[in-house]
Amino acid sequence: MSQSTVKTAQSSGLFIWTAEHLKAATAQLKGQWIGLETTDNERLTATRIITDTRKIEPGDIYLAIVGEKFDGHSFVEAAVDKGAVAVIISQPVADLGVPQLQVEDTRLAFGQIAAYRRQQHPNLKVIALTGSSGKTTVKEMLRHIFTQVEGAHSFEQNTTLVTRGNLNNDFGVPMMLLELEQQHRYAVLELGANHVGEIAYTAAMVKPDVACILNIGTAHLGEFGGRDNIAKTKAEIYQPLTEASTAVVPFDDDYTQQLTAAAKKYTSNVSHFGWQQLEGAKLPEVYATEVKTTALQSRFKLHFSKEATEVEVTLPMSGEHNVSNALAAAACAYAAGITTEVIASGLSQATSSKGRLGRQTLGKHQIIDDTYNANPNSMRAAADVLAAQTGYKILVLGDIGELGEASRDEHNKLGQAIAKNSVDLLLCAGEFAKDTVAGAKSQGMQQAYDFDTKAELLPKLQAVLTEHNEQQQSCTLLFKGSRSTTMETLIDDLLSAE
Ligand code: ATP
Ligand code: MG
Repeated sequence: MSQSTVKTAQSSGLFIWTAEHLKAATAQLKGQWIGLETTDNERLTATRIITDTRKIEPGDIYLAIVGEKFDGHSFVEAAVDKGAVAVIISQPVADLGVPQLQVEDTRLAFGQIAAYRRQQHPNLKVIALTGSSGKTTVKEMLRHIFTQVEGAHSFEQNTTLVTRGNLNNDFGVPMMLLELEQQHRYAVLELGANHVGEIAYTAAMVKPDVACILNIGTAHLGEFGGRDNIAKTKAEIYQPLTEASTAVVPFDDDYTQQLTAAAKKYTSNVSHFGWQQLEGAKLPEVYATEVKTTALQSRFKLHFSKEATEVEVTLPMSGEHNVSNALAAAACAYAAGITTEVIASGLSQATSSKGRLGRQTLGKHQIIDDTYNANPNSMRAAADVLAAQTGYKILVLGDIGELGEASRDEHNKLGQAIAKNSVDLLLCAGEFAKDTVAGAKSQGMQQAYDFDTKAELLPKLQAVLTEHNEQQQSCTLLFKGSRSTTMETLIDDLLSAE
């Protein structure tokens, strides 16, 4: 990088990596430069560390990850051909022509470099989030809250770094941290648990000021073999906390006690959020009263026990689960030093993203697209949302994936819960459709039908809509299923047949 490029990078707020930084960051992995002294490479600088050769641009540093299918070391020469000015490797390549930082393990080095990067931002407020449902929703709520902070730039200018998509694992989290720039004042990072120890690893690198668990559901039950293990794995998020940081814990979860005990091992700053089960026990730090959810929004009084204050919130999202999500976002923002007024104003701007209770119309019918993903809790939450709507209520479900041996039983229980709600018609497609429908019928629901595939379900749905069109009646349809079921294609089929 030339002197003038360095200046441009500095003024644009990008962090500039030098050879010394990278060596210091990887010291624990015995990081040693090879070939640095041969040219004037000692002044090596770069703003980007890239692991995918397809994304390499001249001036970048390439880090070779050893994956299950590919070994990044095979692409080292290609990276240099594309303009990489240095590489980070565990096996040096002869006659490469650019400096090589040799480390014991490149995947761990990626994490250490990201951790180093995070340390360069002592004033950044970092919120780390995990939970079975609602992570993306809460991230977006926090983005809206932080955008309202006085002096922060507009939404577009981005003073808050928020995890994109599902970059939440031991590889995605360091990728997000490496996107930190000088203008960032807040970072909201999602930490996911695909296996025991993963959150401990990513949380240590993220060093959160606020660490929050939203809920303990049954997502990935197959992988973990029980909710107790899910709770323990998620509680790893509290491990890096100190007396200078805060643990945010759900108040009305089955696992509240265990999570509280886990958090208290590391900090006495524990903030609970919740709005159910408020009677009797000590009130949580952040809670809601007078909750009114309608088809399009939720209104409630938001209370902060510590200040004995309350603010009115109108959240432009339906569903009681979103009241819980709003309380979690409020508790995190409050712990990060945001005022109650700013929190209320941010929540009133929050909108849901694609596939999360989005609305469309089809003639006189309403379509609610909640197809982004599903687990047993979020399926029930969606049934509650549908039950609160008007017209003839049709629930169209795909399977819930990743439930392992519990699959048939969980689908049966889901069917039973739906039958007890005011849903008029249940249509299910997929391997476990029969189980959901059997559960619904066992509780007396007549209008429940199962299909092996979405293609077989579609004609039934179209026939029902035609019948209601003839009778001038409007329907509300809610679509949902795990990501793998891509239930949104049914919505597309319905709309395109119009
Ligand atoms: P994923 O792990 O798939 O990325 P996520 O945790 O990011 O999911 P969201 O995308 O916010 O969660 O929401 C996913 C689905 O879960 C939505 O369809 C929504 O209806 C439901 N949901 C959101 N929050 C909750 C909650 N607090 N309790 C139960 N269900 C919820
Ligand atoms: Mg998500």
